[in-house]
Amino acid sequence: MTGARAAVVGGSIAGCAAALALHRAGAQRITVYEQAHEDLARRGVGVGVHNKRHTELRTAGYLGTSTPWLQLSRRTWFVRDATCPDPMGRSVATDAFPFRMYHWGRLWRELREQVPDTVTFRTGARITGVHAQEREAVLHTKTSSHAFDLVVGADGHRSVVRAAAFPRTQLLSAGYLAWRGVLRADRMPRARRWPADTCAYVVFREGHLFACRVPGPPGSDGPQINWVLYSANQSAGTGHAPGEVLAERGACQEAAEETADALLPPFWAELVHLTEPRDFLVQPIGDLLTPSYVQGRLVLIGDAAACARPHVAAGAVKALQDAAVLERALGAAGNRPWHEALQHYNTARTGNGNAVIALGRRFGETLVTEAPDWASHPGPSPAACWQQCDPAGEFGGLRLPA
Ligand SMILES: Cc1cc2nc3c(=O)[nH]c(=O)nc-3n(C[C@H](O)[C@H](O)[C@H](O)COP(=O)(O)OP(=O)(O)OC[C@H]3O[C@@H](n4cnc5c(N)ncnc54)[C@H](O)[C@@H]3O)c2cc1C
Repeated sequence: MTGARAAVVGGSIAGCAAALALHRAGAQRITVYEQAHEDLARRGVGVGVHNKRHTELRTAGYLGTSTPWLQLSRRTWFVRDATCPDPMGRSVATDAFPFRMYHWGRLWRELREQVPDTVTFRTGARITGVHAQEREAVLHTKTSSHAFDLVVGADGHRSVVRAAAFPRTQLLSAGYLAWRGVLRADRMPRARRWPADTCAYVVFREGHLFACRVPGPPGSDGPQINWVLYSANQSAGTGHAPGEVLAERGACQEAAEETADALLPPFWAELVHLTEPRDFLVQPIGDLLTPSYVQGRLVLIGDAAACARPHVAAGAVKALQDAAVLERALGAAGNRPWHEALQHYNTARTGNGNAVIALGRRFGETLVTEAPDWASHPGPSPAACWQQCDPAGEFGGLRLPA
């Protein structure tokens, strides 16, 4: 890779990790193009990393230990039950939940700081077109064009690199939305009785709420409460493309509040009501599968390559694993042609991407589209159904082979 000109499109989690992977594999002329002008660390909320995946990624050099995190160890499953006096609802199961919760912006910053100064990191640089030819790949911005030997598409689920490689691939709608929100934990004094190491899954017919504490953004002190409310019962916002995170206020927040009041125990509904409009988002849910992670000189990584429903809690982990495997494949190639190394990367990662997407669909069916009224459901508990969806324990991402 020494003399190769390599570009990375996108400077988020996958983009920073890809730049690091190329550098470690020996590339010396690396340029990252990130369309955002501002510091990405100011954005994002909570991101979970399974303890086992964290250990593997730390060993591989893609996660450190300096970013603050909150350790979760348990999950409690709740249902709303009119006969239960507890405002949190009736607890129907508890199981292990070994996840580190990070603030997305802090995790991104740790990774960004690892990217060496020899990498040219261009912000406010949107790639408007990609033309791959036999001898080089050309990236176009609004004002200029640049040729590279290798282009890594780390530009998320609406990737322009993927559009050039596989024009017909697109996100498929799951037919439901998630409402997301975050609030400072001290805005809800009665949350003190909710153990800090425990997350909640509050389940109801055709949907559920996930809630946990996460560290606050850079420069803040005190934790935040992060919640995600999935429901197949709503229609607000369905005109939007799946995967798109929308900062929608007004009607969407009212719909979320109505759903929360109708279906959640009062403690959890209060989270939705206490969320400020600026901290409220709507996300249409979908799946994205690509036929391959590699097409000639174009390589896909992170959400650009495969994007699973957020139930799997593996987006950031998968992006970092993709980078670690790309580094190994390119590093092992030595002086051999890259296309062989890229095929190793493709073979290793497509199976992984397909598995997390399939798992996301199973969770989506079990906990959203086909979810019964768990409070009166005579069958297995939601925790048991969860186990049936995930017999191999792939929640939070598959194992990164040593
Ligand atoms: C600002 C931000 C905040 C996020 N917050 C959270 C969060 O709180 N919790 C969570 O679980 N996930 C969050 N995500 C999503 C999460 O990062 C991804 O699902 C996962 O980590 C995979 O990352 P990725 O780098 O593949 O994709 P993404 O994180 O989506 O990054 C894609 C990057 O490519 C850039 N880009 C796209 N098109 C172009 C183009 N044409 N030219 C140049 N650059 C381009 C985008 O600006 C973006 O920075 C966030 C993503 C972003 C961008």
